[in-house]
Amino acid sequence: MQTYDLVIIGGGPAGMAAAVSARENGIEKILILERDDRLGGILNQCIHNGFGLHMFREELTGPEYAQRYIDMVESQSIETKLDSMVLEVTKDKVVTASNRTDGIFQVKANAIVLAMGCRERTRGSLNIPGYRPAGIYTAGTAQKLVNIDGLMPGKRIVILGSGDVGLIMARRMTLEGAKVLAVAEILPKSAGLQRNIVQCLDDFGIPLMLNHTVVDIQGKELVEGVTLARVDETMTPIPGTEIHYDCDCLLLSTGLIPENELTRNLGASIDPKTRGPVVDKSFATTIDGVFAAGNVVSVHGLVDDVSKEAIAAGKAAAEYIKQLS
Ligand SMILES: Cc1cc2nc3c(=O)[nH]c(=O)nc-3n(C[C@H](O)[C@H](O)[C@H](O)COP(=O)(O)OP(=O)(O)OC[C@H]3O[C@@H](n4cnc5c(N)ncnc54)[C@H](O)[C@@H]3O)c2cc1C
Repeated sequence: MQTYDLVIIGGGPAGMAAAVSARENGIEKILILERDDRLGGILNQCIHNGFGLHMFREELTGPEYAQRYIDMVESQSIETKLDSMVLEVTKDKVVTASNRTDGIFQVKANAIVLAMGCRERTRGSLNIPGYRPAGIYTAGTAQKLVNIDGLMPGKRIVILGSGDVGLIMARRMTLEGAKVLAVAEILPKSAGLQRNIVQCLDDFGIPLMLNHTVVDIQGKELVEGVTLARVDETMTPIPGTEIHYDCDCLLLSTGLIPENELTRNLGASIDPKTRGPVVDKSFATTIDGVFAAGNVVSVHGLVDDVSKEAIAAGKAAAEYIKQLS
């Protein structure tokens, strides 16, 4: 079994910033394990601008921001294994992962940084009634299809959820030629930034339906329509307020939660509010020598904050490793 000073799980902005920071703080043997075929994490599909205003004092796109850190990882010759899915992390810091060339393999670390990011809530966890036709996607999946794979998930679209991801996708789908019929939001107020409401909805004449939710999805094989209804203060749909939309696609943008399976199985305490691991000021989890940073800890709006947090976690991991010898 190969041994490393530091193993980092996830090669998104948090994982890369933690690795660079640990190297700058004197740690030599570092390995980043990333399940995707490239470094950069969710930023690779965020081709809009608005990243890096704090870290680089420039307005970058997601891929441009990621590239800044990829260049640092490469120039510092930090070892990475791509297409490598981590399956388990244990308290004695053995990491089990799998990829096509090595099969299932294990590495041993003196310290670990968890940087697995977050995942989207899916329709299953929202209990929307109706059949299960094709044409229902989370907004992040649609974003990957459009921005990376060059595929359109639909032509007439209803979006449920008005956080920033939903707003950004309303604009993106419109720019790609689709008709976004409405963005429904169950709450009385959008959780998204005001600038995104203006630039992504108002500028394109897309209605924001506050206090509304999806009460029915029509279609057996493919989505044929969606019904929205107004909700009362207890979020219960009000009969008689239904509005029907003929559409072939429903995008769900109903929240992100930390990717916490590995963290849970490791036995780290989970914060019931953030649903990520409990961390102290130096981003140490409740497991000795295991640190965590970025969206795996709590969902962040700005990648600059993720990088700052990961720099601190990388430094703390480096200090932990140095006091072992
Ligand atoms: C749609 C959208 C729009 C956004 N817009 C903005 C914006 O305009 N401005 C801004 O500043 N921020 C924006 N953000 C936020 C910012 O992109 C994120 O906060 C940041 O990317 C989080 O970084 P991370 O490294 O924690 O997670 P991620 O970027 O999600 O990286 C986690 C990495 O871990 C890997 N991974 C997970 N599990 C495993 C495993 N078991 N084994 C191996 N690898 C694993 C994943 O493949 C991924 O590469 C946006 C986010 C989204 C989703």
